[in-house]
Amino acid sequence: MERTNTERFMKNDTLLPLYNKDKPKSNPSNELPTAIPSHARRVYIETYGCQMNVSDSELMAGILTQNGHQTVPHLDDADVVLVNTCAIRENAETKVINRLVQLNHRKRRQPDLIIGVCGCMAQHLRDKLLDAAPYVDLVMGPDAYRDLPVALDSLARGVESHVSLTDRDPFVGLRLDKSEDYADIVPIRKEGIRAWLTIQRGCDKMCTFCIVPFVRGRERSLPLKFLVEDVEKLVDQGFKEVVLLGQTVNSYRDNGADFGDLLYAVGDVNGLERVRFTSPHPADATDSMIDAMASSPSVCKHLHLPLQSGSTEVLERMRRTYTAEAYRNLVSKLRERIPDIAITTDIIVGFCGETDAEFMETYQMMADIRYDSAFMFKYSEREGTLAHKVFPDDVPETVKGERLKQIIELQENISAAINRDTVGDTVAVLIEGESRRDADRYHGKTDGFKTAVFPKANTKIGDVVNVRVDTTTAHTLIGQTI
Ligand code: SF4
Repeated sequence: MERTNTERFMKNDTLLPLYNKDKPKSNPSNELPTAIPSHARRVYIETYGCQMNVSDSELMAGILTQNGHQTVPHLDDADVVLVNTCAIRENAETKVINRLVQLNHRKRRQPDLIIGVCGCMAQHLRDKLLDAAPYVDLVMGPDAYRDLPVALDSLARGVESHVSLTDRDPFVGLRLDKSEDYADIVPIRKEGIRAWLTIQRGCDKMCTFCIVPFVRGRERSLPLKFLVEDVEKLVDQGFKEVVLLGQTVNSYRDNGADFGDLLYAVGDVNGLERVRFTSPHPADATDSMIDAMASSPSVCKHLHLPLQSGSTEVLERMRRTYTAEAYRNLVSKLRERIPDIAITTDIIVGFCGETDAEFMETYQMMADIRYDSAFMFKYSEREGTLAHKVFPDDVPETVKGERLKQIIELQENISAAINRDTVGDTVAVLIEGESRRDADRYHGKTDGFKTAVFPKANTKIGDVVNVRVDTTTAHTLIGQTI
């Protein structure tokens, strides 16, 4: 199949500026083309994966809307569907391939439907994706979203010229661009309480198990000044909480300002109830970050601190750049400075060569640290990573499964016990919405990111209320407003 490229489609397109004129580009040389749409397209964006992808979908919606297209909430109303994908684990990619098969059935009934695959999986699989799903019209990686309007216009012209599906060239936009930060793009967000704000793109860490640096490129931070302005606007729009996003969010840097400086600056924005961030890297947890968490009232006392393994030998094979001892010391320091901090984590079991003894170090570390909660996974090999090239994936699936079961059981017991200890306490809860199980109750989050459920009484969504905890489960606090 012939592959096309961005330049080919740019030749005859009229260029329009696409940016918030009040906010200059971080990199003014990064001028990218946009096209006057021959027809406005109705675009349905379907998002898979992490919050970074949710934020990228909002960015894509912003780019499309500013170029005369419309995003729609239902697939039935769309003539373009963009599937924004995740590549972190194999089953995430399998899920998307299955979804594409379903979309192809729809395309048989609706031949002018444009199917696009965006995000990490597009960048990871490249040609293999088009081989597996030749009916896909557009493949676009995370640094090429400015080309979406040009791509849609070109593809739409193909549709209108009645070029048969098999003869139509897909649009492929897979450049990785270290200067692309989309600082000037205004994302389209759903109304709500919590807004996601990308402060940094890409990753320089190169953990051996991870595909992210290959699909999202090198690390780059957005200017602090713009970010503070963005937060001020989000508060004006009614958002109560902002979550700062980055692959290694606390390695943020802007002209001498570090992540701690950004936390202080955002925490000072008038009217903002809460600031959170995800995901920090333990090696970048500086005193400046800890100081800001300890002393800025609106910065939540919750840290999601990925451990991955409690064995220094495994951490070395993973190239995590810290030892088990350094991680334990960091947790001690955090708890000394911020006694009520909630700490959560990510764990991978069954990484290449993980022995029983190495696994037990992880188990023991979890038992000692007593995380509030954890995301736990079996290692899944990703083609293109260093681990895939140099280490055999040699822990049998049954052993991985057994280890995962053990730590899940451990963590459930710890989470349940930590939550039980809060019975009788009063916690501040930001109300997010109606409880799914009971229309007479609201649910919300505590400062430590625990879910609380309580009767509505005279409260409303967006309020911060005091809730006295009456009973708990491993995942929820249940109580009354006081
Ligand atoms: S820090 Fe490691 S795990 Fe996290 S995105 Fe970067 S390479 Fe992947």
